[in-house]
Amino acid sequence: MTRLLIEDCTLGGRSECSIYCEEGMVVRVTEGTGQTVPADTEVIDARGGVVFNGFVDSHCHPFEYGWLKRSVDLRGTTNITALRLRLTAGVQRANPGEWVTGMGWDQESFPGGAMPNRADIDDITPANPVVLSRICGHIALLNTKAIGDLGLETQAGVEYERNQAGALTGIVKEKALDDVFASLPRRGERSAADLQSAEAEAAKLGLTCLHCILSPEGYREELAALAALDSAGSLSLRYRVYIPPNAIDLVEEKGLRGKPGGGKVKINGVKIYADGSLGARTSALREPYSDEPTNSGILRYKDEELQQLVELVDSKGYQAIIHAIGDRAVEQAADALGRVTGAKNPRRHRIEHASLLPRDLRTKMLNYCIRATVQPMFITSDTWAVDRLGEDRVNDLYPIRSMLSEGIVASGGSDSPVESMSPILGMWASMTRGGSTPRESLAFEQALTLYTSNAESNGLEEPLGSVKEGVPANFTVLDSDTNGMHPALFRKVGVLATVVGGVVVHSYGAG
Ligand SMILES: [Zn+2]
Repeated sequence: MTRLLIEDCTLGGRSECSIYCEEGMVVRVTEGTGQTVPADTEVIDARGGVVFNGFVDSHCHPFEYGWLKRSVDLRGTTNITALRLRLTAGVQRANPGEWVTGMGWDQESFPGGAMPNRADIDDITPANPVVLSRICGHIALLNTKAIGDLGLETQAGVEYERNQAGALTGIVKEKALDDVFASLPRRGERSAADLQSAEAEAAKLGLTCLHCILSPEGYREELAALAALDSAGSLSLRYRVYIPPNAIDLVEEKGLRGKPGGGKVKINGVKIYADGSLGARTSALREPYSDEPTNSGILRYKDEELQQLVELVDSKGYQAIIHAIGDRAVEQAADALGRVTGAKNPRRHRIEHASLLPRDLRTKMLNYCIRATVQPMFITSDTWAVDRLGEDRVNDLYPIRSMLSEGIVASGGSDSPVESMSPILGMWASMTRGGSTPRESLAFEQALTLYTSNAESNGLEEPLGSVKEGVPANFTVLDSDTNGMHPALFRKVGVLATVVGGVVVHSYGAG
């Protein structure tokens, strides 16, 4: 029997509460401390910290997080020289001929903001094929060896960027980039280790459940890793899994849906990409980019193709979640979903990011009962948003308060490894917005719903409501009482403990 007592915590505004749990369920919530419990009970002294139902990240890529940790980390580089230094170190660790992967550069941080080009890295990588993803993961830089090894020189189309002389620059985008990753050798071999490194980090940050998006190129190994770890009882957190469309056949064949090995993993739905990212200027806009008037971004599917895919996903009983950032992509996604949602959207189909969302599109989503996940940290990171969209359109970027108050069920996600997985930082960003468009700032209670009730609901669960007798013992215990706290201070709040199914999966001081 697993028993747990959380003592001296703040719950629903009341201090000095205690929560006693057995076998993963809350048995008793009492006021006052010092209650008698069986000797084998694990005790957490919350010292006045507040307890919430466990935080949920409703959009993240934990396998990519783990992969990033062992590839060349280019986040934070502010010029090509810095990028080259880190790449050189990565190449030195690799054998000749071995693929070198990296992630995290952002041309917006480089002087002048120009895209890097294969000539920037060819001289330091003569013997290794190299692919370096931009921070958004939607475009990447390849060196000449990689282009040669993959036979890309003769490829045509806007996804293979060419210079004015007609030569490939090394920048490859969107679906063409998926193909590049699909052809990398044995990337999936270390999937289990990658997941476990992400899970350890997520538990530390107070997360109890991840809406986990699998990759189009690595889903086989990722599904196998999830199933093996779950069956062995080795997973700490709960996973709601979203597969790429090309994985549907495998999941159906093997009967994986609804048959979780150890009970922590459930396959919920299918993730579809409608467009790219604003940072890479590949998200599909109704009007061209303000800082590139000949470009309106890239739609990955024709209207009828997306429609067919959505119908297939819906007819097989999956939840469809569509990545759509630009207003043109959101409109396309909403129209496709609207054909299958009916009045109530019983499968809870969602649009991921829904970043550029003017009122007419919010109304459309609401009419079709379409849900959304939002990534509040993007607001503080997209410092170039006004350049891309202009002063007017930027008012409709990440309008999270409007979405919630108009009735769209929106939940919060990190899009990790694009941003930190921390739900504390996500909530902080949704309340402060780095000072931009302050009228869209959330109140604390709204920020909390993004990572609790709305996230539970968007993950096909019933919202738990308050912590009370009979609910599952999934908690995030913070180290302070956040009641009445100034939003700017919230980012400093620590996680005292993370509890999943009555088991303490992280506690303060455990590293
Ligand atoms: Zn994502």
